[in-house]
Amino acid sequence: MNSKQTTPTESLEQFRMRVKGEIVTPGSANYDETRVLHNTRHDRRPAIIVRANDASDVARGIQFARTHGLAIAVRSGGHSLPGYSMNDGGLVIDMSGMTNIQIDPATRTAWAQPGALAGDFAIAAQEFGLAVPFGDAESVGLGGITLGGGIGFLVRKHGLTIDHVRAIELVTADGQIVTATATEHADLFWALRGGGGNFGVVTGFRYELVEVGTILGGAILLPATREVLEGYARVSEDAPEELTTISFVLRAPPMPFVPEEKVGTMVLAIFPCYTGDLEEGQKVLEPFRQLATPVADVTMPMPYPGIYDLTREATAPKREVVRSGFYPSFDSETIDRILEFMEAAPSPFCATQVRPLGGQMAKVDRDATAFAHRGANYLVTIIGGWLEPHEDGTLDAWATRAWDTIKDRREGAYSNFLEDEGEGRIRESYGEKTYARLAEIKQRYDPANVFAGNQNIAPKAMSAAA
Ligand SMILES: Cc1cc2nc3c(=O)[nH]c(=O)nc-3n(C[C@H](O)[C@H](O)[C@H](O)COP(=O)(O)OP(=O)(O)OC[C@H]3O[C@@H](n4cnc5c(N)ncnc54)[C@H](O)[C@@H]3O)c2cc1C
Repeated sequence: MNSKQTTPTESLEQFRMRVKGEIVTPGSANYDETRVLHNTRHDRRPAIIVRANDASDVARGIQFARTHGLAIAVRSGGHSLPGYSMNDGGLVIDMSGMTNIQIDPATRTAWAQPGALAGDFAIAAQEFGLAVPFGDAESVGLGGITLGGGIGFLVRKHGLTIDHVRAIELVTADGQIVTATATEHADLFWALRGGGGNFGVVTGFRYELVEVGTILGGAILLPATREVLEGYARVSEDAPEELTTISFVLRAPPMPFVPEEKVGTMVLAIFPCYTGDLEEGQKVLEPFRQLATPVADVTMPMPYPGIYDLTREATAPKREVVRSGFYPSFDSETIDRILEFMEAAPSPFCATQVRPLGGQMAKVDRDATAFAHRGANYLVTIIGGWLEPHEDGTLDAWATRAWDTIKDRREGAYSNFLEDEGEGRIRESYGEKTYARLAEIKQRYDPANVFAGNQNIAPKAMSAAA
């Protein structure tokens, strides 16, 4: 243990007595399991992990960290790509035990704690034929995905996760428990919807739900050629907003529905989610099937949470590197580069994810929330995945080379898909105007930048001084 990790024992014991949840330290039997993150390449060793039970535990954790000069990290589902939800030698406020979800079908609202997972929420809400749009992985925590925006299988029909948030309870840097809504702390409410973990530790979200029952989901795998990818863009742009697809260029995995001779060939795996009349949905999917003879076609009606059955394996924890950007179009030049670098991918867990956007996401006013890229048409993400630490260098180099070939055509970034890529990329996520407003609100609520272990927006005065 280095000197930074030494905790002031006496105060720690008093702190332990006052906290209702659990305090985990390097000597605790569950220390290693508690500090594991989804991206397993991050092996961080905090001095103290506060497994919070409620908002007062969070407030005490913040106060203790500030008194002892410990850096703070905040963890909900643990899916931060750069591993910001753990730190070395600091204090982690771990919300993963705060998983309560209460659905009120009468008002079509839900109150949920940030440690609840997207998949658990989907199942709880589906009991009433309701949903909130989260992302493509059931294991993502509500805390991180909601604060960053939330782009998922319902984005074209129902918009972003933040478009369904009606109230946020959080503990601010000075330990106050505050509820932010459109009318109370309205500036903070605006900032929290897209501005990430910069403004406090969220202890609860109130969501408004939408009706989503049986959807048409599954997968259509097509050979990944330039013509198919160009056709995919064309057909997606013509599709009604009831259809959202999330697609991957990758080597066909050995899944039960992939013919053996096609395993390992380069495919475009399209995961559709059609909400609406199911027969109409089949017609909407037909032009995708017509792009080439499908390698596999397993689309079927399913309850909405069924979408997670298909992504479960691909989104399991592993070592990961990600590069991502919003694009105005999915053009032939970008397609050619993707096909080239995917051929050279050094691991079977590598993929390039393509998300056609638009629809409801684009209809919300750009200034209504801190999510600035409402007008983006595509989100393209290079994902390198692997298992062994000795492969880190190879995968990092591949992702960097791949990104270099397509990055110039991007128009913006999504903060939830950023790695540790520097201030320029964080600014890119917001654009000048939104970033400036966020920095002002940060100045008011966290002038000392207590919440710095994140895609950090420096308080205005600090930015100006720098
Ligand atoms: C496999 C995988 C699939 C994904 N799919 C999608 C997708 O389809 N759509 C999408 O939009 N995103 C997606 N993401 C990105 C995901 O939304 C972000 O990584 C998000 O931050 C994860 O939230 P978390 O709570 O699980 O992570 P954590 O690592 O726990 O938190 C990430 C960060 O969020 C902040 N934070 C978390 N909880 C709180 C809180 N209670 N209070 C204040 N700040 C908090 C902190 O800054 C923290 O560092 C995916 C990520 C992975 C790894």
